Amino acid sequence: TQHIKIIGGGLAGCEAAWQVAKQGIPVHLYEMKPHTFSPAHHSPSLAEMVCSNSFRSNAPTSAVGLLKEEMRILGSLLIKIADETAVPAGQALAVNRGDFAAKVTEQIKQHPLITIINEEQTKLELDSDTPVILATGPLTSEAMTESLVEITGRERLAFYDAIAPIVSEESLDMDIIYSKSRWQDGPGDYLNCPMDKEQYLAFIHALGEAGTVPLKEFEEEKYFEGCLPIEVMCERGEDTLRYGPMKPVGLRNPRTGKDPYAAVQLRMENKEGTFYNLVGFQTKLTYPEQKRIFRMIPGMENVDFIRLGSIHRNTFVCAPELLEPSLQLKKAANIYLAGQLSGVEGYVESTAMGMLAGLNAARTLLGKTVVPPPPETALGALIGHLTQTDPEHFQPSNVNFGLFPAWEKKVPKKLRGEKRKEISMAALGKWQEQLI
Ligand code: FAD
Repeated sequence: TQHIKIIGGGLAGCEAAWQVAKQGIPVHLYEMKPHTFSPAHHSPSLAEMVCSNSFRSNAPTSAVGLLKEEMRILGSLLIKIADETAVPAGQALAVNRGDFAAKVTEQIKQHPLITIINEEQTKLELDSDTPVILATGPLTSEAMTESLVEITGRERLAFYDAIAPIVSEESLDMDIIYSKSRWQDGPGDYLNCPMDKEQYLAFIHALGEAGTVPLKEFEEEKYFEGCLPIEVMCERGEDTLRYGPMKPVGLRNPRTGKDPYAAVQLRMENKEGTFYNLVGFQTKLTYPEQKRIFRMIPGMENVDFIRLGSIHRNTFVCAPELLEPSLQLKKAANIYLAGQLSGVEGYVESTAMGMLAGLNAARTLLGKTVVPPPPETALGALIGHLTQTDPEHFQPSNVNFGLFPAWEKKVPKKLRGEKRKEISMAALGKWQEQLI
């Protein structure tokens, strides 16, 4: 019988394998360990958690908690094992990583339809009759990266992410911030936080002293010039930021009639304009430092962060250009991408994309229809991010409520998590009925 080939036995690959096998289809799961290890992988087990042992919040009223809840309902193997190997961690679902990986490995190994082959795969075959799920992760081996480049083109494959913080519009002080696009009269697409000289100097001083997340040994100091962390730009001189992302020219403040000394620009993150990102503010500052320092920006004193910034070594594709909502490559329908490589960020999100790729590949092989999850669910919100973001500004994302449809009517902040959960559960139920 026809089988599905899965490359990469990490979080996404194992979940995908389980979902395919659950549909009665044989799986060949290729994992390059223990012959070859990426610089972050050390254990011979499948589903190795390379850094933290946490799957983040377990509260179904948080976006990542809701994602896990949806995955439990859909029968995720990895979330089930995470629940079984949990260690006390307050609101978070943290696990004993050794037990977690061992149990996943055991379950996958003993499944009669799954064959594990410990071998590096170096080439993707286009137009083969065998469906392939590529789940080789943020540290995909070099040879496979080259093969992927042949399909995607080099400019659609990135090796570092550059994630700028996202804030909610309602938490901005619009008495200080003004709307204007550079050199254009009247309100524009961007919001601008104006700084005078004193505010700018205090800001860059704080930035210069701030704590950063250390680089991993395999991450290089030499970032692409286009996505330097702001604290590195700051180190290069007092005016570097003023000539870079904080350039004030063409941004005359309509309230004062004067040019600011520097300005932080905010760009719409969703079409409803309820979330904005800080343009060019990718950073390796620690999360507490980001909150402290970015709240020094005029108009952002009480800002709510929907997501904080980061930069990692991370192989990922420009998903909006390359992927269908089914996670199939537009160019090669037999190839599905899953996990971090597909353009999501985080353990749970990667696992979730493994789940969907597995489900979709199996359904396609069985001649069943593939319906993407509804946008009101966390799963659907992630697929929306992968397929509907402006490709020019695409960066990987954690699941967050900023990716969900905007509220039609205003909902009080305290009730939003609960309401998101209710809406998602109803939509998920309807979607499941379509999956028979
Ligand atoms: P992986 O889990 O990395 O699985 C990929 C698998 O493919 C690996 O087992 C690898 O050996 C194998 N492989 C690679 N190339 C080939 C090939 N050519 N042939 C066969 N096998 C191959 N996310 C979090 O939520 N929390 C964190 O703390 C966290 N820390 C991270 C730390 C580092 C250093 C990195 C790089 C990422 C981190 N992430 C973290 C991000 C991400 O969620 C994880 O990397 C996650 O494991 C991604 O899942 P995946 O299945 O896509 O890839």
